[in-house]
Amino acid sequence: MNVMAQIPSPASFLGYELGSHFTPHYKIVQYFEALAKAGPNTMKYETYGKTNAGRPLTLAYISTAENIANLENIRINNLRLTGLETGTPDVSNPKAIVWLSYNVHGNEASSSEAAMATVYELLTSNTTNAKEWLKNTVVIMDPCVNPDGRDRYVTWFNSVVGDVPNPDPQSREHSEPWPGGRSNYYNYDLNRDWAWQTQVESQQRIKKYNQWMPQIHCDYHEQGYNAPYYFAPAAEPFHEVITPWQRDFQNVVGRNHAKYFDAKGWLYFTKERFDLLYPSYGDTWPIYNGSIGMTYEQGGHSRGGLAVVTDDGDTLTLKDRLTHHFTTGMSTVEVASQNAGKLVENFKKFFDNAKTNGVGEYKTFVIKGKGNEAKLKPLETLLKNNGIVYGYANAGSASGLNYFTNKTETFNLEKGDMIVNTTQPQGNMVKVLFEPKTKINDSATYDITAWAIPYAYGVQSYAVKEKLASVPTNLVTLPAVAPVGEVYGFIKTWESLEDVKFLTALMKKGIKVRQSNKAFELNGKKYPIGCLVIIKTSNKNIADFQQTVLKIAGETHTQLEAVGTGFMDKGADFGSPDVKTLWAPRVACLTGESVSSLGAGEVWFYFEKEINYPITMINAADACRVDWKRFDILILPDGYYRNNLLAKDGDLKTWVQQGGKLIALEGTVSQIAGAEWGLTKKKTDDDKDKGKDTNNYADVKRYADAERESLKESNPGSIFKVELDNTHPLAYGYPEYYYTLKQDNNVYEFLKDGWNVGVIKKESQVSGFTGVRSRQLLKDGTLIGQIDIGRGSLVFFADDPLFRSFWQSGKLLFANSIFLVGQGGGFRL
Ligand SMILES: [Zn+2]
Repeated sequence: MNVMAQIPSPASFLGYELGSHFTPHYKIVQYFEALAKAGPNTMKYETYGKTNAGRPLTLAYISTAENIANLENIRINNLRLTGLETGTPDVSNPKAIVWLSYNVHGNEASSSEAAMATVYELLTSNTTNAKEWLKNTVVIMDPCVNPDGRDRYVTWFNSVVGDVPNPDPQSREHSEPWPGGRSNYYNYDLNRDWAWQTQVESQQRIKKYNQWMPQIHCDYHEQGYNAPYYFAPAAEPFHEVITPWQRDFQNVVGRNHAKYFDAKGWLYFTKERFDLLYPSYGDTWPIYNGSIGMTYEQGGHSRGGLAVVTDDGDTLTLKDRLTHHFTTGMSTVEVASQNAGKLVENFKKFFDNAKTNGVGEYKTFVIKGKGNEAKLKPLETLLKNNGIVYGYANAGSASGLNYFTNKTETFNLEKGDMIVNTTQPQGNMVKVLFEPKTKINDSATYDITAWAIPYAYGVQSYAVKEKLASVPTNLVTLPAVAPVGEVYGFIKTWESLEDVKFLTALMKKGIKVRQSNKAFELNGKKYPIGCLVIIKTSNKNIADFQQTVLKIAGETHTQLEAVGTGFMDKGADFGSPDVKTLWAPRVACLTGESVSSLGAGEVWFYFEKEINYPITMINAADACRVDWKRFDILILPDGYYRNNLLAKDGDLKTWVQQGGKLIALEGTVSQIAGAEWGLTKKKTDDDKDKGKDTNNYADVKRYADAERESLKESNPGSIFKVELDNTHPLAYGYPEYYYTLKQDNNVYEFLKDGWNVGVIKKESQVSGFTGVRSRQLLKDGTLIGQIDIGRGSLVFFADDPLFRSFWQSGKLLFANSIFLVGQGGGFRL
């Protein structure tokens, strides 16, 4: 019997030609299962995880029967090339590993359709020489990186398309409803999450990726339906660690694709728009992991439907879109096979170089452990997830750049300090994640331009030019859990997200927690402002008070201190009015149309997955019908709120005056500033000049310089040092500064009637690109503040404290705004 005859084509399995329908995720999985079941010894299919909604995440491995039978040996040998696996690699018979990732953005939905066409061709070689190519190449396919997002799009589309697709772009099938299928379940962009791995899809996928380490990674996307196809080589800026080989090979790939596109007369572009800088994309992250990482972009995302009439008057069909993606997939496998030897050789060099020489100006990064113990925990997870090896200091001293003072200083190495060297296989990732300033050779970039870990995690760190020695384990022993026996109460310093989890766990059990609004001293030990105080007498209704508190502390990894008295040596006693009960607030957040889906998703994820505290997500469209009195707090994520929601005499303002607390984020703060809530946005020089009759030759600009001109006002994402008033509850647990990721030019006049908790005075930009005019504007203003309004208050964050959930240092600030600020006021009085 003919093997080919047993392998079902997509059309024979699905019952329709590819391109005539959008295929739901479960059917894509069934098709791959059917292929595996048809028994070709040239394919292996596995489930590597599941999404938030429970959909399977899968991988297919396709090669020759010989290679598939030898798959584990090929994997181990490939890892040996990197040094991440011990043993000497065999380089006599090089095999290229090509990893194709489809549909990371769920509404770029031609991608997974193309995956089915591609796997079928790889297994059958009907129209190409695939069989030959696979002799020295293993293809790993992830048919759908984001199944929850894809099905959100496909289910919606299939529910409105009707019998006959309508190519008129005004038809509703081309207008996807909020939040769209781009993001995952919690509205996170998975193509910004590769390095941070805050989402379950990334965590499970990259674990697999790290076991394979392909030489080529292709990330399949779609862009607006009027755009021609985009493939490598990428646009500037390129990060400086990208090697000449990686640059050159992008050209080799691009020219191979162009051969096929030219033959068909298809339009395409290269070298524009999609740059290689931000480390958390599906192209850059693989590049910093030694691969040739590439983004492929077809026109048609979200609005392409099954067919759409473009601005040129042509009709673009789903069939066209998947055929283009199919073509670059097969061309990539071809070019990998033709260059397998060189790919493997240069891949090995990439890691050998890092291991032998380290990467970049600084060979070691030292993260101070003392006082930062709780902050090191998420950092350890981040490093492990990225395959980075780290150790700890023992003793001695060193000299290096202090990230927080921007000066070179001599400092002591202490037990508990974390040491990360670039002389290791993942040295390139180390450099990219820790470098104090990223070199940018072109400022027109697609994303943020600064992300250095010490700022994002708020941990005191040094960049050292010499390689420092380290020991593999942390020699600091944490104090033992509180002693048993009768206690008066417990103390916990307020310093990290772990403490927030501890607090919410206590609140959910109905345990009363107080907070000291003054520093105090007990038994010769100094306790800073903001300590949690849990007292037995306040919790008489809790059976087994002591055991219950200790159990919760154990579950949330919290080190408590037991005390036998409420009488302090210095400062407020536990019965003082300065030690106030923290009430468990009832929290709501607006979401839906007019709200940023990413912003609302971050708040939702924070409550559900990070601090485990209940939140009511309310559609902004329902805001006029909400009984606000049932909530103590309303969070307004970035968005543009309509229907006079924020009007000075509206329901929401009345609710705040009566005791509600409004927490406004990012762009919403700017909207509030325009609605008389007591804060004013700083004006740009252009605003100030309006109406003046000036004769300014600088206004005469060259048309061709338009993009360069606009960059002067641009701030795609850079880091600013904010001075904090840490005597205000909003900044409890922080030093006198905080590093914010600023993505716009919004800054507010110092509040006359309110608390300027986070301000920038002089030019405070520390890392990243900020346009010259933007820099001039971003000084002498407030970014984080609180205004008392009647019995309630407004708290605002001009920037996003929860940015992509990787901006660790903002998470406690946000918790403070929820649990600490305004306690004692509000509805509880
Ligand atoms: Zn995309």
